[in-house]
Amino acid sequence: MTREDEMPDWEGAQEFYAKYDPKDVLGRGVSSIVRRCIERKTEIEYAVKIIDITSEHLTPEELEEICTSTAQEISILKQVSGHQHIISLNDCYESSSFYFLVFDLMKRGELFDYLTEKVTLSEKEARSIMRALLEVVQFLHSKNIVHRDLKPENVLLDDDMNIKLSDFGFSLQLGPGKKLKELCGTPGYLAPEILLCSMDETHPGYSKEVDLWSCGVIMYTLLSGSPPFWHRKQMLMLRMIMDGNYNFDSPEWQDRSETVKDLVGISEISHLLVVKPENRFTADQALAHPFFQQYVVEEVRHFSPFRKFKTIIWTVLASVRIYYKYRRAKPLTKQVLIRDPYAIKGIRKVIDGCAFKVYGHWVKKGLQQNRAALFENSPKAFLFSLGNECGYVSEQRME
Ligand code: ADP
Ligand code: MG
Repeated sequence: MTREDEMPDWEGAQEFYAKYDPKDVLGRGVSSIVRRCIERKTEIEYAVKIIDITSEHLTPEELEEICTSTAQEISILKQVSGHQHIISLNDCYESSSFYFLVFDLMKRGELFDYLTEKVTLSEKEARSIMRALLEVVQFLHSKNIVHRDLKPENVLLDDDMNIKLSDFGFSLQLGPGKKLKELCGTPGYLAPEILLCSMDETHPGYSKEVDLWSCGVIMYTLLSGSPPFWHRKQMLMLRMIMDGNYNFDSPEWQDRSETVKDLVGISEISHLLVVKPENRFTADQALAHPFFQQYVVEEVRHFSPFRKFKTIIWTVLASVRIYYKYRRAKPLTKQVLIRDPYAIKGIRKVIDGCAFKVYGHWVKKGLQQNRAALFENSPKAFLFSLGNECGYVSEQRME
């Protein structure tokens, strides 16, 4: 049976337009466009993902692939809709030219843009976002569903800043023991085994662990503002991923206290950004890590004498630490400021904040993310990256 035989004609499109009034564009993909729309009867706002299955720029094979993957996306969305951190699919229409997927509208947009606005997130905020994201991954994996495109662009925020995972375009439900071989996802978030698999025909394939790697990349990016693997040359970036070549050298990491690093931040990430998938944390293990065990109890009403004693001791120790830190702090002189302004936390925040305010709209251009360029502590490297990305400045001109 051909695709034309399977498809209802224009009926689906007519039904959609009769029920909804499409408005401004919220986002675009390779073959889809997402618009705000209003349900005519109730005047409630939604977001509609309109997937074009007629594009002249695509080959028949590519169009066939889009149809198959959209059908898969819809089937998975129907299975998982209802989870508090997954976008709800409310309606779905199809015609011979378009698919219309109607979702709840996420007015605060992407986590990606929120991070660009904030530059970095506090550990508390990163904890709450990552806990929700890992709970979604835990839920999906319990149903043998692998997402394969976890990234801050696909994590949306509702009015109350709760996250909702979206874009199940690459998601698949795995049969028992089934491994995958296909190279798909977004370069900076690809797990090493996906890359290895695409280079070695004898590779046994990859599985759900790839989502945990992407969670590690997201978590690193939220805490430091910059992705763990980034190079202006994409081949070198992919090499870094396969070697697990990342570090915590940026001043942003140096600023986080040793206690916090030991207890929560760094160790957590090193369990996720692990090259061998069999040694990587599962979602269950990640959620059981002490990092996520903090602040679970919302309110502690009764303090036992032991808790009281412990709190007093901690308060005294913290006060002593603050006092000595204060005494050791060197005065900020003009010389120190001129020598390395970026080394001073307050100044660094202002510099990074300004860079993101001025150049934030370039961060997303192109397939290769250039968020890291905004952290490159060299005007030449920074301008070179942006020039490359935007096509304004040629390599020769920068020499
Ligand atoms: P693609 O597969 O093309 O990446 P997505 O489903 O990720 O499509 O949607 C593309 C973009 O559209 C998202 O990154 C986001 O900015 C916007 N978007 C998608 N769904 C919604 C929604 N429900 N509410 C608000 N914006 C949305
Ligand atoms: Mg997307």
